[in-house]
Amino acid sequence: MKTLAAVVTEIGKPLTLKELDIEDPRDDEILVRIVATGVCHTDLVVQAGMLPVPIPVILGHEGAGIVEKIGSKVSKVKPGDHVVLSFNSCGSCESCREKEPAYCYEFMPRNFGVTREDGTTALSMKNSPVHSNFFGQSSFATFSICHELNTVKVPKTVDLSLLGPLGCGILTGAGAVINSLSVKKGSSFLVYGTGSVGLSSVMAAQIQGASTIIAIDLNDDRLEMARELGATHTFNPNKTTDLVEKIIELTTHGVAAALDTTGLPDVIRDAVLCLAPRG
Ligand SMILES: [Zn+2]
Ligand SMILES: [Zn+2]
Repeated sequence: MKTLAAVVTEIGKPLTLKELDIEDPRDDEILVRIVATGVCHTDLVVQAGMLPVPIPVILGHEGAGIVEKIGSKVSKVKPGDHVVLSFNSCGSCESCREKEPAYCYEFMPRNFGVTREDGTTALSMKNSPVHSNFFGQSSFATFSICHELNTVKVPKTVDLSLLGPLGCGILTGAGAVINSLSVKKGSSFLVYGTGSVGLSSVMAAQIQGASTIIAIDLNDDRLEMARELGATHTFNPNKTTDLVEKIIELTTHGVAAALDTTGLPDVIRDAVLCLAPRG
């Protein structure tokens, strides 16, 4: 059958819409009609060539859609189910067995390999293969082939067009707060950067019951949204002097937990300086 996909044909260039052939799902695969997909910074990093993958390739890893067809060995979902797609994992390594698939020993080949394990790809254009299976989904397309391990059934009552970012941005921010940092009720939490990961961390900190939630960003509109979503204090470093001192003063001994979503060494250093003992 045919699918329309946004294809990277040249590194650093805009995606181009192409009509491609897509194979039927194999025994352990699921064909999903994509209703909506998020765009994550990792897609842009790969498109820019900073994380090399072979081209032509279809990116996208925050897909949400409806199951169209399943392989004979698939039992987790059935045609018509609404699903959200996330990152892929092997399901059998030590991390996967301990229910930590984000640390799967095969994370890189399963998510950035852009082929199946046997080196084939389900998509082609005029009989020439197009790389897919990015994060086990390649969701920048009208149809996606994915797997039981990265497909999550969701209620049909929820608007699918809103759910894509659950697969990456939201689980990254919320998972950092709930699982990695274990932010406690009544404690303090600080996040640098209020993009989708940072805002998700703010929401999770509020759910955890943190009493002081500090958000820092250069964009005032994002800070306003952070306040709407639960931040108790927000700062724009361009408009604040002695920010680290202010945060320590605000929290008496520093924050109990800090999260950086920027990846900038100077920001990470400041986040560490804001921490209380044992933070
Ligand atoms: Zn992502
Ligand atoms: Zn694994």
